[in-house]
Amino acid sequence: MSQSTQPVGEALRKRFEAAMMGNHGVPPLALARGEGSLVWDADGNRYLDLIAGIAVSALGHAHPAVVAAVSAQVRQIAHTSNLFVHEPGVLLAEKLRGLLHEQARVFFSNSGTEANEAALKVVRRRQGKGRPVFVAAEHSFHGRTMGALAVTGKESIRAPFEPFGFDVRWVSYGDAAALADAVDDRVAAVFLEPTQGEGGVVPAPPGYLAAARRACDAAGALLVLDEIQSGIGRTGAWFAHQAEGVTPDVLTLAKGLGGGLPIGACIGFGEAGSALAAGDHGSTFGGNPVACAAALAVLNTIESDDLLKNVKAVGETLASGIAAIDHPLLSGVRGSGLWLGAVLTQQQAPQVTTAARQAGFLVNAVQPDVVRLAPPLILTQAEATGFVEALPAILTQVYEQKA
Ligand SMILES: *Cc1c(COP(=O)(O)O)cnc(C)c1O
Repeated sequence: MSQSTQPVGEALRKRFEAAMMGNHGVPPLALARGEGSLVWDADGNRYLDLIAGIAVSALGHAHPAVVAAVSAQVRQIAHTSNLFVHEPGVLLAEKLRGLLHEQARVFFSNSGTEANEAALKVVRRRQGKGRPVFVAAEHSFHGRTMGALAVTGKESIRAPFEPFGFDVRWVSYGDAAALADAVDDRVAAVFLEPTQGEGGVVPAPPGYLAAARRACDAAGALLVLDEIQSGIGRTGAWFAHQAEGVTPDVLTLAKGLGGGLPIGACIGFGEAGSALAAGDHGSTFGGNPVACAAALAVLNTIESDDLLKNVKAVGETLASGIAAIDHPLLSGVRGSGLWLGAVLTQQQAPQVTTAARQAGFLVNAVQPDVVRLAPPLILTQAEATGFVEALPAILTQVYEQKA
């Protein structure tokens, strides 16, 4: 126990502010440990984690399967580099092929943005220089590195870092006719999220992905689906595109894949899977054995514990519970599975996030008027109901502050 009168978390935040670059701001809370869907802050206060490190901790915290897999692997060999083959990497690639497509081929990265960088290279290699144009959606998010950022439609984070040297045509997300107009024989690829995550959990209208597939096929462009947030069971399907009956040429994954260990994947289907030749791309840490072992544990546990069923059932409890709340600050809820945006009538999502935290729930203000929920896939019915019951008072606290 600390002898200081200052809370431990407050002291950590001060040291963070002094030692870290300012890009993240200073987060409001220091987390010390977790178990299941619960986390504890540095001062021992407990919270129900309804954001899971931004849709990352798929099995919650300290899941025995991940702990065992990572511990065993780090004892065997923690790192090989890509100068050597290792079995966890091969097993994970084989597992993903089994879930996706027998023709799929996999490149492992450490993060989502790097998975999209690999996708950009796959597209360039496959399409050549005669197709210089990329099509991407307004308000999309594909990552912070310069290639992924070039196709990111969220203007506030892209514009300060222009120019990028990418020729990008922007389309309004969800407008199938505008997309078909934008995709011609100069377009190498269309980048889309099945639901825009950072955009505020905005699902595409039914049929939009299928229309994108048709537009790409008609023009000879590749369809790149960014499932970095929507994949790995988040929506109740293994991958959101599967529920739409659409197969992309390139799929990118990260976030939930490693259950908290850093790993991403760029997956090429058919010919896109063999676009990169030896020497075309690489990553020293990408597909590290420990991260691969964690990801295998995540995928195997989703399967063995029938977690897709849990995602649908508990997601339905959350969504219908929130939809049934009649409150002047709440306009509705959107999304699917355990991935929801509670839409407010006012730009008070940050205040709702603060009030929720004070009430023991971690959520995220993904947009000024949207509160995002992306809890662990193991969230229980009782935990979901606990939040639904607490939400009206949280909303009222914020609403009355304003009045
Ligand atoms: C989070 C996210 C990324 C970027 O992933 P990082 O691991 O933060 O680099 C890219 N695309 C989507 C859809 C995301 O949600």
